[in-house]
Amino acid sequence: MKLIFERGSAEQHLTLLPACDVPEVHFEQERQKELHLPHLCENELTRHYTEIAKRVHGVNDGFYPLGSCTMKYNPKINEDMAALPGFTKIHPLQDVETVQGAMEALYTIGESLSDIFGMDGITLQPSAGAHGEFTGVMLIKAYHTDRGDLARNKIIVPDSAHGTNPATAAMCGFQVVNIPSGEDGCVDLDALRAAVGPDTAGLMLTNPNTVGIFDKNILEITQIVHDAGGLCYYDGANLNAVMGVVRPGDMGFDCIHSNLHKTFSTPHGGGGPGSGAVGCKEFLKKYLPGPIIVKDGDKYDFAYPEKSFGRVRSFWGNFTVVLKAMTYIMTLGKEGIPEASMNAVLNANYMMSLLKEKYTMAYDEICMHEFVMCLVDLHDETGVSALDISKGLLDNGQHPPTMYFPLIVHEALMIEPTETESKESMDEAAETYLKLYDLAKTDPEALHAAPVKANCRRLDEVGAARNPIVRYTF
Ligand SMILES: *Cc1c(COP(=O)(O)O)cnc(C)c1O
Repeated sequence: MKLIFERGSAEQHLTLLPACDVPEVHFEQERQKELHLPHLCENELTRHYTEIAKRVHGVNDGFYPLGSCTMKYNPKINEDMAALPGFTKIHPLQDVETVQGAMEALYTIGESLSDIFGMDGITLQPSAGAHGEFTGVMLIKAYHTDRGDLARNKIIVPDSAHGTNPATAAMCGFQVVNIPSGEDGCVDLDALRAAVGPDTAGLMLTNPNTVGIFDKNILEITQIVHDAGGLCYYDGANLNAVMGVVRPGDMGFDCIHSNLHKTFSTPHGGGGPGSGAVGCKEFLKKYLPGPIIVKDGDKYDFAYPEKSFGRVRSFWGNFTVVLKAMTYIMTLGKEGIPEASMNAVLNANYMMSLLKEKYTMAYDEICMHEFVMCLVDLHDETGVSALDISKGLLDNGQHPPTMYFPLIVHEALMIEPTETESKESMDEAAETYLKLYDLAKTDPEALHAAPVKANCRRLDEVGAARNPIVRYTF
């Protein structure tokens, strides 16, 4: 398809703004180069975006079981609430007296999230999961620095972790200590004991972990780190198996982030906007990025934590994303939140049991919100890889699951149906997976050639990663 710059012509334009009725101001600095803006009429512009929209696959198009990403349905009421003029027609620099309702909304979701997390303090500033991780690890850093404990320069990360965990630790100036997982996909306690010491700043952990298993030793794990003087960070990007059921704060974690754009149903993909709310225990509250919202009687105000390590974002975070998550939590309520989690676990186990008929599971036990299949045997036998199966799914109108992650499972396909899929849609999806398994055995070439019905065939993924072209050359 054509890029927007390749469409239209100099004569075309579209007028959305009224003519300027105030004196024009010319800034000192002149442009060195001509500004290239597309010249399109409204009709052409609409067609352009519609064409793009038709080429992408979202939850509204079909099954989208991207493990670790929680592509759950975003109820339309979330959009309605976030679009209320009282929320959209205010300015972040408005006087607090005039935006008490918006502040109440932020305060209310802060309270709900603290309840779900089992934490005491909260910030809604971070714009993404990785940004939340950064904020959480900076809290850990501020804590050690404040105590003059400067020798703690290492963060422990299990080898099953999401790639953002080691990246975050490194970005915050820590050395990353990788520890292996045991046979069961859980933290190897001996390896953890051997790794901790006076240089341990903290541990970053996801539980249930990225293979969909709840680590039963969690209390012992957090205790080992605490005994060594380190703090525990919970990567709750995907809290979908446990929200309202078990609280990270009770597992011994000191701080957490959760992706409102995964767990709490706000839409995501394509780079945002998202929200990585961060919660922390009482003793870390004073280091939180400011301002935070405080309530005095029935009045809301902004306050700066005493030893705040600084802002992580302008203004108050992605406000409308937060509003969608607030609506989600309020519509489900105290009973609905854990019910959603239990259904997510039920759905994952249901799908796993259907696929187990043919596929090998990496960990053949009851899973949490997602499970990982290992296609090594199929690959050895037929030459059909996890990638080939994924490409075959595209021809069947399904979005492939997460591939080749976590790294500890070879030829991995990681499936997370979420609670918002019906039994019918999972049955249909499973049927396709099983059909492709049979096809791998009878006609592997057909899968090597897939996709044949998608918008594009196989892409040069290495080329795209190594030499990305992100700028249009005029
Ligand atoms: C998605 C995810 C992240 C990162 O979230 P972003 O919003 O993409 O930055 C971190 N950890 C885990 C476990 C995740 O699934």
